[in-house]
Amino acid sequence: MPFKVAIVGRPNVGKSSLFNRMIGSRLSITDDAPGVTRDRIYAKTEWLTKSFAVIDTGGIEISDAPFLEQIKQQADVAIQEADLIIFVVDSRSGLTDDDLFIAKRLYPTDKKVIVVVNKVDNVDLKQSIYEFYALGFGDPIAVSANHGIGVGELMDQIVQSM
Ligand code: GDP
Ligand code: MG
Repeated sequence: MPFKVAIVGRPNVGKSSLFNRMIGSRLSITDDAPGVTRDRIYAKTEWLTKSFAVIDTGGIEISDAPFLEQIKQQADVAIQEADLIIFVVDSRSGLTDDDLFIAKRLYPTDKKVIVVVNKVDNVDLKQSIYEFYALGFGDPIAVSANHGIGVGELMDQIVQSM
């Protein structure tokens, strides 16, 4: 059984973008069947000498469920399946009620939760991470999934907690 890392967060924070960064384009190209445009939600990756699996819970579709029910169930999958949870938030929008809703869902778990503040595309946006301390999961990590900034630090933290 590989060590499993689940990515959770409300829509549009950049979960799939971060997932693709974490698994690398090499894996996503070779593993995908031609013509399949659906987002992948599960892949194995490695960092330094360690390998682990990543799950993008945002890609799990629960048909007909209302929005809050969907993200609730995605958080529940993370709690059940993962050894470590990556909780992605958006530096541009700041902390939202939906972020707090997900946080409440994650509080009962004993599993480690790392808050990843995405879309920190430049140094001017770095101060936007501080409000996310209020989530209560410790030091947030600033990343830009689009530019690849901070992803190495996140991967370091993941392998350190394995
Ligand atoms: P998801 O719904 O959480 O899976 O989010 P996506 O990965 O689909 O990204 C949602 C939108 O945010 C897309 O338009 C992405 O291009 C954009 N996005 C993702 N990461 C970044 C980032 O690091 N910086 C910026 N500026 N936009 C990003
Ligand atoms: Mg997605």
